[in-house]
Amino acid sequence: MAIRKIRIEGDPLLRKKSREVTEINDRTLELLEDMKDTLYEAEGLGLAAPQVGVLRKVVVVDMRDDEGLLKMINPKIIEKSEETQINIEGCLSVPDESGYVQRPKELTVEYLDEKGETHKMKCDGYKAVCISHELDHLEGILYIDKKIEVDEEMLESEELLENEENGDTKWLK
Ligand code: ZN
Repeated sequence: MAIRKIRIEGDPLLRKKSREVTEINDRTLELLEDMKDTLYEAEGLGLAAPQVGVLRKVVVVDMRDDEGLLKMINPKIIEKSEETQINIEGCLSVPDESGYVQRPKELTVEYLDEKGETHKMKCDGYKAVCISHELDHLEGILYIDKKIEVDEEMLESEELLENEENGDTKWLK
């Protein structure tokens, strides 16, 4: 078990694009294990490799649902809905802050698992938010770049209230 140091906003590495993993080797597996440990230690929902200083397309996500931990290598969004959702987000690289971001309501992500097998996963709700957020990290994008101002009317909208109730805001840091 190894906890890696999480890079904080302002670190130039967080703004760089990650490269694809061309070969899944021991280093990749070690990175995934360390990212898992780091995610749980920080009590986050997701973590992308650049957040621990590695510019590779590797992401771990655990929504604390039945699916448990997802280890994703070379993930990419292959389909997304026109329809969007607005939710509160936070980021382990931007401590003690949160903000509203608009993202697709549904998306399909394709990725490789540790054995190199391809998976296609359709998701919605806060899981779609989390995956979209983590994949942005691989492009050097942080949620604060996409943060929107929410006016009172929107704050009172049923959809947003419902999202806040169902959202995993307790995990946001
Ligand atoms: Zn983040």
